[in-house]
Amino acid sequence: MQKKGTIEINSLSLNHLQQLFGEAKIPKYRGEQVFCWLHKFAVNCFTDMTNIPSSLQKELAASFHITPLMPMVKRTSADGTVKYLFGLFDGQTIESVLIPEEDRVTICVSTQVGCAMGCRFCATGNSGFVRNLSSGEITRQVEWISQENAEITNIVFMGMGEPLLNYSEVMDAIKLLNCDEGMALGLRRFTISTCGIVPRIYQLADEQGQVGLAVSLHAATDQKRRQIMPIAKKYPLEELFGACHYYTNKTRRRITFEYVLIAGLNDGLDDAAELVNLLAGLNCHVNLIPVNPVGGLYQRPESRQIESFARYLSQNRIATSIRRERGLDIEAACGQLKQTAGEVVHEDS
Ligand code: SAH
Ligand code: SF4
Repeated sequence: MQKKGTIEINSLSLNHLQQLFGEAKIPKYRGEQVFCWLHKFAVNCFTDMTNIPSSLQKELAASFHITPLMPMVKRTSADGTVKYLFGLFDGQTIESVLIPEEDRVTICVSTQVGCAMGCRFCATGNSGFVRNLSSGEITRQVEWISQENAEITNIVFMGMGEPLLNYSEVMDAIKLLNCDEGMALGLRRFTISTCGIVPRIYQLADEQGQVGLAVSLHAATDQKRRQIMPIAKKYPLEELFGACHYYTNKTRRRITFEYVLIAGLNDGLDDAAELVNLLAGLNCHVNLIPVNPVGGLYQRPESRQIESFARYLSQNRIATSIRRERGLDIEAACGQLKQTAGEVVHEDS
């Protein structure tokens, strides 16, 4: 499907596009027009660019291609959450989720096909790593979904993959989505979620302090964290929290810690007490996520247990929220739809 040897035009910044147009003696303003078609109106082919002469459309099609993103499955939950499975040029698939709430509309996007981090409770982690997504493949998810939905307010990099291991493409995607000639989404509307790639947290703090950071913590001791997250062997909590303190000091922004609650593993009040100690003095917020059981290995705690864990944190002055269960009926947990979708079907439209 992808033409070999041509440039993925929607991965290029406006400057880069204009530079290539300049070299090809195409007027500069055409660069802006094409960029706008790609990023504001998410067109899939050059012939849809109606204010571009057909001779130029042909010229563009000879040198460039537009990321093909094919909707393969779409499931809408009773709570309004919509989950998409998209096919890529090489037959791989990725997931994206639209989450409408009273005060915001969030899109959760993937940054890699699969993930190399192997977190035990995660369907994506269990399926292994295939490849990084290009910035064009990342932005297309947002542009595509925004075509059929109301105003998008927030973008979270919480789909498949570890965004900080695809750092440059993720940063380029943010710049493309932030660009005035495209969707013009403010930098503060983005949140990157990471399992804790320490050197990249420092880099993010130094380079892009406006984008929000969420750290998947899931346990308050190295011993427990290593049981469920292999990355904890590489970056112990001391190193991770060194980076987190650097990030909050440098950016003056609050970090969100995601904590997947797993029955009998990390949901006790002793775990909550360790967490309070670990987070002392850090500008942060904890988001408790009752685990979505994947493959029956881990179970979510009972509501009573979840509430008492949350209460303990709040009583110890840790800002805490419990993630509302959304899209459970459509298998909205990371990597789940891909596992169960099987053959390609349009489930609703
Ligand atoms: N790789 C990044 C971002 C993608 S995962 C990260 O790990 O942060 C996004 C979030 O979904 C993470 O907090 C992850 O721990 C969580 N998650 C993965 N599998 C889950 C499951 N089965 N139930 C609940 N949350 C899960
Ligand atoms: Fe990768 Fe995040 Fe899943 Fe861990 S939770 S395997 S880092 S996608």
